[in-house]
Amino acid sequence: MVYGWSFFRHLARALPPSCLLCEMPGRLHPLCAGCTADLPWNPSACRTCALPVPPGQRDCAACLARPPLQVRTLAPLRYEFPVDHLVAGLKYHGRLAHAPLLGALLREHVLAAGAPLPELLLPVPLHRRRLAERGYNQALEIARPLARATGLPLETGLLRRQRATAAQMSLDAEARARNPAGAFALDAARLDRLGSLRRVAIIDDVMTTGATLAEIGRLLQQAGILHVEYWVVARTP
Ligand SMILES: [Zn+2]
Ligand SMILES: [Zn+2]
Repeated sequence: MVYGWSFFRHLARALPPSCLLCEMPGRLHPLCAGCTADLPWNPSACRTCALPVPPGQRDCAACLARPPLQVRTLAPLRYEFPVDHLVAGLKYHGRLAHAPLLGALLREHVLAAGAPLPELLLPVPLHRRRLAERGYNQALEIARPLARATGLPLETGLLRRQRATAAQMSLDAEARARNPAGAFALDAARLDRLGSLRRVAIIDDVMTTGATLAEIGRLLQQAGILHVEYWVVARTP
């Protein structure tokens, strides 16, 4: 009897733990070493907005021309295959198992980037209607491994999404820039209770134009939190 490839794939599926991408069994769950090496890494990125830039360059042309104040973006990956599938699986198909993997990839990148660490982690909130539909906030799920690894508090009471916005990817550039304006609000009483904050990291799955993160960053800076970091799993090049 000749065993076909499908037999081994079937066998691999029956033997946990296996790689989330190629489904081969391996000790390096949830990704095997080959699939990890093949991810679309973002090793040379603008320090302000994490856009891919040529090696040796520290800033992209847009950030050099108009530097945003006191912002650093960390994004280990480019939003390309198979990262787009992993993120879409988490956001739209209930694959909650992708969250610890994406969170761990972000955690490794953040720890490698080094200090200074923020005083708290702020996952981008979902509007309560979307949260009810989805059952979980993917940004919060991605932030959990970071909070565990760094011991930093995960703050979910400070920021509220007061208006449901259209998914950034479904809009053209002009609509994307306008979309998040006024979508978020800070809870002033919660801010008071947190005391004086100097550095906060906002966590999200993907940074597309950065308009959502910039809107939250603007609110935080208006509230006196000068150093804002954007920590995202993937950057749309
Ligand atoms: Zn694999
Ligand atoms: Zn830039």
